[in-house]
Amino acid sequence: MRALPPFHGGKLAWTSNSSMQMRNLLKYQNGFVNRRTFYCNAASSATAIPSLDKVDFLKLQNGSDIRGVAVSGVEGEPVSLTEPVTEAIAAGFAAWLLDKKKVDASRKLRVSIGHDSRISAQKLQDAVSRGIASAGLDVVQYGLASTPAMFNCTLTEDEAILCPADGAIMITASHLPYNRNGFKFFTNDGGLGKNDIKDILERAASIYSNFLAKGYSVKASESVKKIDYMAVYTSDLVKAVRKAAGNIDKPLEGFHIVVDAGNGAGGFFAAKVLEPLGAITSGSQFLEPDGMFPNHIPNPEDKAAMKAITQAVLDNKANLGIIFDTDVDRSAAVDSTGRELNRNRLIALMSAIVLEEHPGTTIVTDSVTSDGLTSFIEKKLGGKHHRFKRGYKNVIDEAIRLNSIGEESHLAIETSGHGALKENHWLDDGAYLMVSCLILCCREAYSCMY
Ligand SMILES: [Zn+2]
Repeated sequence: MRALPPFHGGKLAWTSNSSMQMRNLLKYQNGFVNRRTFYCNAASSATAIPSLDKVDFLKLQNGSDIRGVAVSGVEGEPVSLTEPVTEAIAAGFAAWLLDKKKVDASRKLRVSIGHDSRISAQKLQDAVSRGIASAGLDVVQYGLASTPAMFNCTLTEDEAILCPADGAIMITASHLPYNRNGFKFFTNDGGLGKNDIKDILERAASIYSNFLAKGYSVKASESVKKIDYMAVYTSDLVKAVRKAAGNIDKPLEGFHIVVDAGNGAGGFFAAKVLEPLGAITSGSQFLEPDGMFPNHIPNPEDKAAMKAITQAVLDNKANLGIIFDTDVDRSAAVDSTGRELNRNRLIALMSAIVLEEHPGTTIVTDSVTSDGLTSFIEKKLGGKHHRFKRGYKNVIDEAIRLNSIGEESHLAIETSGHGALKENHWLDDGAYLMVSCLILCCREAYSCMY
């Protein structure tokens, strides 16, 4: 990894020969403390009966996501994700899940629901809960959550916190404007693909036409359970870093790291991940969830967002800056000199980390990466660069396909900041990517000390 461009100044240097034991991170998927802090309550029921319009459900598909307008007031953008439409989509997912899981009547499936910081989150969460409950499935609400945590809950095994979930729904429209919202769906096989989304929307259209025929009324939800799953998820991230750093309680002691969550869902990373590991996080900004995104768009690809985190790093003389998108599946970093570690440079860094653990492995990226990156991966790191189509799901699916035909690949990463590791079940988790970088920091720091 000597070839990797170094950080200047500060204690953090990415130039390291220390071996990464990223396999340790695998452990965090399943082991965590028992938390029994859930409680049950009845979801509040609305009294108004929303009017029903004809809806073209397939128009709500955006690749492997569902996206629409959830808040009125923007000219030319009528609300498409109404409560009945949302309820029908959730019921469509429940029907799809029942078919897929083929469970007998003795076991009730459960679906967990999380959301980002958008102002329409509560309304959609209630509608999703009604849709799932109407199909006879159990509903577990997580509240504010990250997209990767929603996948994680389908793998966690602990009945005390009602895990694993059979299915999970994240209510988010990632970096899109405040009036949009949408859904991402997960099972323990990962995120659903395009064909599954189409299937769900077709089922939703048929459920919705029943609403039209028979009338729609908002029914009080069955009892809904609530779990603080983000506490579990973040404590697992902390444990992973401690373990990989050699069972040191505060491996980031003395490091100053500022976080910019852009008022999305990623604010947890400062207080719940970095501080327990000993890092100083003063100067972190926009950690409070605010669905109007008053400061900048939470998006590592946005120039204003990168400028904001860069300025915060320089103003606070921090060692590192970390920025997330709204739902924390994408991330980027800024070094102590204000140099951005996003796009090609983030891919270069992650490639170096992965290739140290898996020499010669294939790195799959999207098509818009630079020739300099190819030369870096192949000539300096000894890996293979496989350029594929744009779109994070395409890139991840291609890496999975390569493995299935015998070509080893451990990293699929897009210039947008979506990066997925084989060891993390091919999930694009912005927080996990940054944890991988932090482990490198810790190992580097301690290898200097001992
Ligand atoms: Zn996102």
